[in-house]
Amino acid sequence: MALSTRRMATTAVINGERLWSALMAMAEIGRTPAGGVRRLALSDEDRRARDLLVEWLREAGCAVRVDDLGNIYGRRDGDDAGATAVVCGSHLDTVPTGGRFDGVLGVLAALEAVRAMRDADLRTHRPVEVVCWTNEEGVRFAPAMLASGVVCGRFTVDEAYAARDQDGRTFGEELRRIGYLGKPEHRMRSAAAYVELHVEQGPTLEEEGAQVGIVEGVEGISWGWADVTGRAAHAGPTPVGDRRDALVAASRIVLALRALCAELPGVRATVGRCEVVPNAINVIPGAVRLSTDLRARTADLLATASRRLEEVCAAVARDDRVEVRAREFWQSPPTPFHPAVLSAVADAARDLGHTTLRLWAGAGHDAKYVADRHPAGMIFVPSSGGLSHNEAEWTSKDDCVRGASVLLGAVLRLAAA
Ligand SMILES: [Zn+2]
Repeated sequence: MALSTRRMATTAVINGERLWSALMAMAEIGRTPAGGVRRLALSDEDRRARDLLVEWLREAGCAVRVDDLGNIYGRRDGDDAGATAVVCGSHLDTVPTGGRFDGVLGVLAALEAVRAMRDADLRTHRPVEVVCWTNEEGVRFAPAMLASGVVCGRFTVDEAYAARDQDGRTFGEELRRIGYLGKPEHRMRSAAAYVELHVEQGPTLEEEGAQVGIVEGVEGISWGWADVTGRAAHAGPTPVGDRRDALVAASRIVLALRALCAELPGVRATVGRCEVVPNAINVIPGAVRLSTDLRARTADLLATASRRLEEVCAAVARDDRVEVRAREFWQSPPTPFHPAVLSAVADAARDLGHTTLRLWAGAGHDAKYVADRHPAGMIFVPSSGGLSHNEAEWTSKDDCVRGASVLLGAVLRLAAA
């Protein structure tokens, strides 16, 4: 088996021209005047993109099935028909002013991998499946990663069907309307491994001069509110020493959170929202609500950051004579990826001679929910300027081909045993 695996890995080769022309053809569906893509989940554009993918998968010799969330699977049989499949893919939906690579690269690189296997007439031990997940972005139907979340037990199918867009249309109605309401028995039940290629959406690979990112996991996130209560008073007659200014106190919390990032390497803390009451030019602010976003790679580090946030709030309350109440309202724990998948990716990149960097994903991906149930991992390729969720999003052809080649190499390794 080891010998035939090596032979396989050297015979199936990504066709860069074909991958690039598939990417550019897909980018025409929902193309915006500025050269980006608007392909919201379950829209007419999403249906056209799906139809094209299904056509390509069938041409590549895959058996296509659709589950009750509209997830599309293209299966290429292995020598052992009873073996669990190695699954690879991503998503085709975009944000309203999205780019040509976010999600679609992972789907079309997976398609190109099975096309390359077919060209080489290459047999794998395990079946290989290409997957396209529905509604990864969560921008039309909240929350994000909804369909992979249902398949992996995070949400119920009824919760997904009931999700509504701004016009009041539901996920369930729209799934049926575009003709992609499939069967529950078609869902991914088991996977020997899941590998997702994605653009980095940040600047690290480019800044570090690495060609391929080996993604070790998805960072944990804690979201909360810090409510600061002082005393509203007249901006003129109230002496400075008598003030209990909620905005001055809140500002100290904002700056303390920035200092926290230096104090705890690996933690990022951000205040993105600030609501001031009464928000009037001649009134000392009586109350302020701040949002808090904490991110870290381990549950311990995230817990330490939360504890430090509480200490900061207590100190500010004491020093500024205000009340501060900090509470978390949502948490997503850190998700480390599977060592076997990471080493398959690392070995594939090494054999191809690409420079690599190990890093963590700061944003959510379908692989995060898949990792709850199955061995999963991700590959990143550089995003030019770190830009994503933007019409100018760009990943060079060479980078796309390198990512697809590493994906193919990793899938062949994982499908061999
Ligand atoms: Zn994405």
